[in-house]
Amino acid sequence: MLDGKVAIITGGTRGIGFATVKTFLDNGAKVVLLGSKEESVNKAIEELKKINENYEVSGAYPNLSDLASVEETFKDVVDKYKKIDILVNNAGISAMESIYDYTEESFKKIMDLNVNAVFNCTRAVVNYMKKNKGGVILNTSSMVSIYGQPSGCGYPASKFAVNGLTKSLARELGKDNIRVNAVAPGVIYTDMMKNVPEEKIKPLINTIPLRKIGKPEDVANAFLFLASDMSSYITGEILSVDGAARS
Ligand code: NAD
Repeated sequence: MLDGKVAIITGGTRGIGFATVKTFLDNGAKVVLLGSKEESVNKAIEELKKINENYEVSGAYPNLSDLASVEETFKDVVDKYKKIDILVNNAGISAMESIYDYTEESFKKIMDLNVNAVFNCTRAVVNYMKKNKGGVILNTSSMVSIYGQPSGCGYPASKFAVNGLTKSLARELGKDNIRVNAVAPGVIYTDMMKNVPEEKIKPLINTIPLRKIGKPEDVANAFLFLASDMSSYITGEILSVDGAARS
C-alpha cells in the first residue's frame, strides 16, 4: 500500500510508533524512525533488521522541540531519498498530576513534545511536500482529546491542540495536495500503559464496549489506511481507534 513512499515517524522506537514503522515497512515504504536517544534508535533498527534484513529503515534523534534540529534531520532525509511523502507525528508523553500539584515545568514539558514538536516537524516538512506536489501528515491524538480526563489536564490539553492543528492544517494545505489527519487511540497496551497499576486495568477493560485493550498494531493499521491512497479523499479527520471507550 505504500510502495516507494518515504516516511518519517517520530517516537518510532517503541509502542505505537514502532508498530507503525514495521507496518509501513511491510507495506513497501522506506522509513526513517526518530527517537529521543541514539541507543534506543539503534536498538529499534536492529530489532527490525532481525525481522527482515531487507527493510529500508534508518533513524535519527533530533531534538523535536527545536525547529533547527528537526530541519537538519529532514534535510538529511531529503538529501538521501529526494523527498518525504509521509510524516507521522507520534512522539508523545503523558502525566497524571492533579492541578493542585501540577508544576509549570511539567506542563511545559508536555506541550514542548506533544504540541511544539508537531508544529516543528510539520513546519519542516511542508515545503518538501509542496515541492513534491503532495504528501500526508498524520498526528497521534488521543481519546482524551474528545472527552478530557479527570486528572493530568496538560495531556488532554495537548491533544486538543493536536486536533486543532490537524483540522486547521487540513484546510490550509488541501490546495497543495497535502492531507492531514489524526488517529485518536483509546487504551493501547504500550510502555505508557505500563505505568497504570494492574488493579486499575481490569475494571478499565469492563468499561470498554469491545472488552479489550487495543494493540499498537490496531493504531498502526489506521495510520496505514490514512497514509495510503485508500484515503485519498479524507482530510481533517480525527479517527478514533478505541473500541468505543469513553472514560
Ligand atoms: P511510548 O512511551 O511507548 O513511546 C513514546 C515514543 O515517543 C518513544 O518512541 C520515545 O522515544 C518517544 N519520545 C518520548 N519522549 C521523547 C522526546 N523528548 N523526544 C523525542 N521522542 C520522544 O508511547 P506510546 O503509547 O506508543 O505513545 C505514542 C503516542 O500515542 C503518543 O503521542 C501518545 O500520547 C499516544 N497515545 C497513546 C495511548 C496509549 O494508550 N498508549 C493512547 C492514546 C494516545
